[in-house]
Amino acid sequence: MICFNKISVMPVLPKRIERLSELAYNMWFSWNPDAQDLFSRINHRLWDEVQHNPVRFLLNVPSGELSEAAADPSYQTAYDRVLHRYDDYMRRKSWYETRFPEAADRRVAYFSAEFGVHESHPVYSGGLGVLAGDHCKAASDRGIPFIGIGLLYRHGYFDQRINREGWQVPHYPELNFKELPLLAVQDESGKDLFIDVEMPGGTVRVQIWRMQVGRVPVYLMDTDVTANPQEFCRLTGQLYGGDCDTRIGQEILLGIGGVRALRAMGIHPDVWHINEGHAAFSGIERIREFVNRGYSVNAAIEAVRASTIFTTHTPVPAGHDVFTTDQIHHYFSRYYPELKMSRNEFIELGWDPERQGFNMTVLAMRLAGYVNGVSQLHGEVSRRMFCWMYPAVPVDEVPIGAVTNGIHTASWVAPPLRDLFVKHMGADWDEHIADPDQWRAVEAIPDKVLWDTHQQLKERMITRVRERVMQQRRRNGELLPYIQEAANYLDPKALTIGFARRFATYKRATLFLRDRERLARLINNPDRPIQFLFAGKAHPRDRQGQELIKELHELCRDEQFKGKILFIEGYDIALARLLLHGCDVWLNNPRRPYEASGTSGMKAALNGVLNFSVLDGWWPEAYDGENGFVVGEAKDYQDWGVQDADDAHSLYATLEDRVIPAYFNRENGVPGEWVKMMKASIRAIAPRFSTERMVTEYVERYYLPTGTRGRIFTADNGQTAEGVQAFKHFIREHWPKVSFTSVRTLNDSHNLRAGDQLEFDVVVYLEAIPHRDVRVEVVYGKPVDNGITDPQVVPLKFVEQPADGSYRFGGKLTLPQGTFGYGVRVRPVHPDFAQDFEMPQVTWARF
Ligand SMILES: *Cc1c(COP(=O)(O)O)cnc(C)c1O
Repeated sequence: MICFNKISVMPVLPKRIERLSELAYNMWFSWNPDAQDLFSRINHRLWDEVQHNPVRFLLNVPSGELSEAAADPSYQTAYDRVLHRYDDYMRRKSWYETRFPEAADRRVAYFSAEFGVHESHPVYSGGLGVLAGDHCKAASDRGIPFIGIGLLYRHGYFDQRINREGWQVPHYPELNFKELPLLAVQDESGKDLFIDVEMPGGTVRVQIWRMQVGRVPVYLMDTDVTANPQEFCRLTGQLYGGDCDTRIGQEILLGIGGVRALRAMGIHPDVWHINEGHAAFSGIERIREFVNRGYSVNAAIEAVRASTIFTTHTPVPAGHDVFTTDQIHHYFSRYYPELKMSRNEFIELGWDPERQGFNMTVLAMRLAGYVNGVSQLHGEVSRRMFCWMYPAVPVDEVPIGAVTNGIHTASWVAPPLRDLFVKHMGADWDEHIADPDQWRAVEAIPDKVLWDTHQQLKERMITRVRERVMQQRRRNGELLPYIQEAANYLDPKALTIGFARRFATYKRATLFLRDRERLARLINNPDRPIQFLFAGKAHPRDRQGQELIKELHELCRDEQFKGKILFIEGYDIALARLLLHGCDVWLNNPRRPYEASGTSGMKAALNGVLNFSVLDGWWPEAYDGENGFVVGEAKDYQDWGVQDADDAHSLYATLEDRVIPAYFNRENGVPGEWVKMMKASIRAIAPRFSTERMVTEYVERYYLPTGTRGRIFTADNGQTAEGVQAFKHFIREHWPKVSFTSVRTLNDSHNLRAGDQLEFDVVVYLEAIPHRDVRVEVVYGKPVDNGITDPQVVPLKFVEQPADGSYRFGGKLTLPQGTFGYGVRVRPVHPDFAQDFEMPQVTWARF
């Protein structure tokens, strides 16, 4: 066998511009176009060739060109300006330091299986990864002491190519980490840092790399190192690749390895944010650490919960990893003794009775003090999905909150639009993104200017798309005329509808095809033509998703649709940007309610591209009747067939009656009504659906309280954690005896008027539980099928102790008008609980 090793050698940079290499190794460049210009203006072609990767650029640029730039006064000016801004960004006092000086040293560790920061760094598959990347960028902007933890995949996710027959062919590029903006982390003696993680087949050595995202470091773990046998090297081969064993192996690396990597670097976070269930094993490793320090296992669990927040990202059942008990046992049996847990106790932590397996989402929920979904609707759907964990808690009160996702504005705004924003909102517009007031200035952009800017972006997109289609056909060895005709595809005057996202079946990429004749009429209307652009990857094992791509590919070859419907291969952040800057309308028609949030529509809205979407995920929060369009109704369906038919019908009808007329109604060449909607879209959506607003919410609602609780629980060798676990144990033991002896209302329940008070007299038997450890309360709200909605809670006060173990509570409820339902319940309370239903124990009075 012949073996070669690779080394990468950087050029000696001319002194005058030597800090280019510093810029190349900070992903800050990815949201600062003038930093990118510093590279691209040296050699434009090379910049495109290296996929806008500044490290590869520097490795390959002829040194003569560098010297030329260094001697060019206009280059020097641009260089100085960018570096000045960079230094200012890295050093200035941040929002976080100013607002929360007392919490300045509380670090947040954010675990995620994918990070989508830039196209040159393909360790993401879709929305989850891009969200994680945007979260890091916003954390950097706001100066949050934030650290990302993930895996470094040798082959990334995959490169998508579509062959002549329309099948997706995955390509697995071999990433050379030395050609990426990545640095190997080193220990104190200057040697590359490694950690060990035990697996059933032996000990895996893990190397740690750092990707710097502005002020935020993201540490990525890699097992493809010389010391490891082949099977371990392959562990970090691909994102979401391999079989179930690879999957659990990767999740062990991410969770357990992630904690060890932080420790090896001397980092001790106060807040642990688990981004999706993949990283939930981090909690297991942390339990082990606490047990090693002498905590009881239950106190260790309390300490972990107090310092952990978990964000769930999908209501699609297949999106939650469920392992069999045998698999868990195979990987964790050596772990049980260290945790002082039995096999059953361990399995119990993640047990999902419905799916009869070990569910990573359930594990994460059990090990987190706070849990949230990623849109208000998704919060609601998640409360319904997981209400089985809280059988006695009304669905609306199940402790799962919501923080609606956002996008990193500076990364997603088209540069010409950014220039308009600077002109109308001021040069510091991107420091106040979440402030809705400043966005009013969008109204002052002259209609024609906004429209012309959009039109330029659209034409640029069309040119690029034509080039990409021709390139794909050349590679596939198509006939010359077929290659050449793509040069005339797409009409810059046609209403252009974009659809690009993962080809998961619930996203229904081919819904618009249900009535082909109607579609053909719309597309081929000579006065008001429309056209469609599609892109997206199907998971390599998702046959159905790949069939959808093939179906679209065939449609593109159909005479009726040729050049008017296109599928563009290789969806990634760069292609997303191109389409999101240049389309007129962004279509999203998932099967409600399976879209947890969806973020591409937010990127569209920011660029004045109007959303045309099912009222799922984030859209019900954003849509106000003037800033986009709706497909279908906000309604629950039992039957998918009916839902698809209804939504398809609505899609065509809305296109015909609203979207197309608004677009083609012109005055002096400008569609006034349309531009008004573009402005409404930018103004209403950009501030609220930004990561700036999102990370602010995470900080204020979750990171600060979690940091505080984490410290309290671990002070004095875990006294608080021990106290809480003892309390929970006591409650669990005695709760079965708790019951209501009597519940009376003291006044007549007839002839009541709004504002009257209903007086309650309640006796509850608590056996050994002291009355101050419970809360007795009346809950009332509008009656619905089997309960109430919008519950309001009135606590009752302790009155007396009529007998041993019996307690009388009383209080008054001021009556609202109308019919309402009420109940009386008792639940345990403790000052150190994160929320009302920290424990699922609740007992209701029977009527
Ligand atoms: C924003 C983004 C997504 C998310 O798209 P959804 O509309 O949320 O499905 C996926 N992939 C890429 C490359 C993105 O930039």
